Amino acid sequence: MTTNVVNTLSIAMSNGNKRYFKEILEEMVENHKDIQDDHGYNVFHMIAKGPINEAGLLEFLSLLNTMMGLKFSKDYAKNFINSKDKRENNLLPLHLAITKGKSKIAIEFIKLGADPLEKDAYGKNALHLAASFGTLSLLCFLVQDLSMDINSQDELGNTPLHLSILERREEMGLLILTLTSSINQQNASGDTPLHLSISTGNYRISKHLLYKKAQKHIKNLSNQTPSTICQLKDLKSLLRKRLTKKSFKYFLLIFIALIIQSGSLLSIELQNPPKIYRLTLSSSGVFILSLSFFIYLTCKNPGYENTSPMPLKELYEKYNPEFVCPYCSLKKHKGTRHCIVCNKCVRDLDHHCKWINNCVGKSNEKAFMAMLIWMMFQSSASTFFGCWLIYKSWFEDHLRSYEIIFSFISFSIFIIVVPVTVRTIRNAYKRKKLLKLISTKPQTKAINVDESSDTESMLLYQRSDSFNTFTNSRKNSAA
Ligand SMILES: [Zn+2]
Ligand SMILES: [Zn+2]
Repeated sequence: MTTNVVNTLSIAMSNGNKRYFKEILEEMVENHKDIQDDHGYNVFHMIAKGPINEAGLLEFLSLLNTMMGLKFSKDYAKNFINSKDKRENNLLPLHLAITKGKSKIAIEFIKLGADPLEKDAYGKNALHLAASFGTLSLLCFLVQDLSMDINSQDELGNTPLHLSILERREEMGLLILTLTSSINQQNASGDTPLHLSISTGNYRISKHLLYKKAQKHIKNLSNQTPSTICQLKDLKSLLRKRLTKKSFKYFLLIFIALIIQSGSLLSIELQNPPKIYRLTLSSSGVFILSLSFFIYLTCKNPGYENTSPMPLKELYEKYNPEFVCPYCSLKKHKGTRHCIVCNKCVRDLDHHCKWINNCVGKSNEKAFMAMLIWMMFQSSASTFFGCWLIYKSWFEDHLRSYEIIFSFISFSIFIIVVPVTVRTIRNAYKRKKLLKLISTKPQTKAINVDESSDTESMLLYQRSDSFNTFTNSRKNSAA
């Protein structure tokens, strides 16, 4: 009889038939046992597994509460919502909702009395499951609203950060990194999150961990450090290289190089008195133009994302995770990336350039390219000019030190500029190709004409009036 009632309710819910659902509750449910079987499976488990979208499930849950509240005591839900399904690894309705990726339903269950600290058969509480199954808004709710410990460990010693990396939930891993300061915790195998990100080949998480000062030399129980388990070439170079930090030291280096270059050019020019005015003008011109480019690019806003910050829980409820920056707590546009050095989101971020101590993005990429072209021209021309002078002086047997300095500095600037130019051109080509690919997808058509408006691909759940349509845009975007 009980199974029949729950099954009939399930059919009504699957068909989006609220009237039928209400009638069953009114006519067939006479006591508590009618909505729960002997194994502990009840109507809340059924809602957690419901094959319709979350908006629809929330309406059925609300209807259930209203009806049952009228029939039984007001806190009737507390007893059922903490009931474990003995046939399915003692899963609570809350656990089931999380494993099905239903953050809003899980939050409603907690508000109705579900205990988020309750563990499943594998010793994982709601926080561990949220990290494993990628329910981002729920994790924000558990940590920020309920103050659950983000560093709590499951039976295997894994923290939510370990679990998100093990399950390859990259956006979840980034979110947890913004919520925790403990990034070197070891699990029962002695692995730190960095061990796991390296062994799973996740470059992005590894980079963020290293920027958060994850230690590279901690050994696990197999006596391995992250470096010794590293197999991939790009990860090996990431572990070796020094991380870029906000600093004006490279800018100062260029500034000093330009002063020496123009000073030595002036010395060369002073040896040619008839041409002094013209050449002095050219040496100061080279210096002023080069320096102006650098100062402009250092001070210019590269195109910081200008959307308003929102609570993370709301952002993850509304947008696909790749359009949310957990560091800045704001919605990102297509092509926007977070600069880990500046700790800001930048539209069409190309890279963070240590020479200008600024990002290269949508608002300064053209000026950056212009600077690279100018610096390529001036440094290569100066190198040729310097070499020609050295060649001439060599045969005239009066080689001058400032000619050598001029050539050396010009060639050094050329050596610095070439790889930056190659990288910028390569990145620009890749990004344009990527953006072109994204823009040809039909679902990316803007809902409104305004550029800053949300596109369909950004939104997590597409609107649907029919509960029969199970629409999950997160799955669509992942496909
Ligand atoms: Zn950001
Ligand atoms: Zn930056």
